[in-house]
Amino acid sequence: MEVRLTVIGSSPAWPNPGSAQSGYLVEGPGKLLLDCGPGVLARLREDGVRPDAIAITHWHLDHCGDLIPWAWLNAYSPEAGQTRPELWLPPGGEQELETFTSFWGVPRMWERAFELREYAPSKPFEAAGFTVEAVQLPHYAMQAFGFRVRDPERGRVLAYSGDSAPTDELATLARGADLFVCEATLADGTTDGELRGHLTAEEALAAADGRILLTHRPVELPSPDGVPVAHDGLVVEV
Ligand SMILES: [Zn+2]
Repeated sequence: MEVRLTVIGSSPAWPNPGSAQSGYLVEGPGKLLLDCGPGVLARLREDGVRPDAIAITHWHLDHCGDLIPWAWLNAYSPEAGQTRPELWLPPGGEQELETFTSFWGVPRMWERAFELREYAPSKPFEAAGFTVEAVQLPHYAMQAFGFRVRDPERGRVLAYSGDSAPTDELATLARGADLFVCEATLADGTTDGELRGHLTAEEALAAADGRILLTHRPVELPSPDGVPVAHDGLVVEV
């Protein structure tokens, strides 16, 4: 089998009509879900997909919000105990989950639901049979990462930006990748905060080193001529 990307959810920080928020399923040696925004879990369940591992780029809700219902599903639903995927979190992530527990969960919910792991910047880890490298990127004042996901057997590489301000690190992330899935939230860089957090399509294209798929893009915004934009349900070979 080739390495395949399925866009589960492609919306920006607010949902495009009928669309889930960030969720990208990479299938090769195993099933790896990159980010888990609202709407993603329902889509996965609809298709009977049970990822082996989940990796989260950062703690904005549109990238991680469905972890909460997922923890309830795995820990307390009629399906409880059937699966316990690895959950790869940014540094300090297990502590961050405790914040969620205090508002929306119960003690030990996360450990019951997932195999909890924390990744470290630029220190590759193995998840669902892929080798994954987390590259730290600027995103307002939040700790955020992009991922380079490599199938060690086939040598195919998918790079995923998560959310990022313009930075040279994006080109490092994308270098030599067979496919670069990159956010392009903005129509214009001047509409971002004073501290930048997102990219225009042009900034995303400038970082690419080959094939690119724009995502996290408001449906109202056009895309540059000939540049593909992700939509929920899109399947592409990496
Ligand atoms: Zn974000």
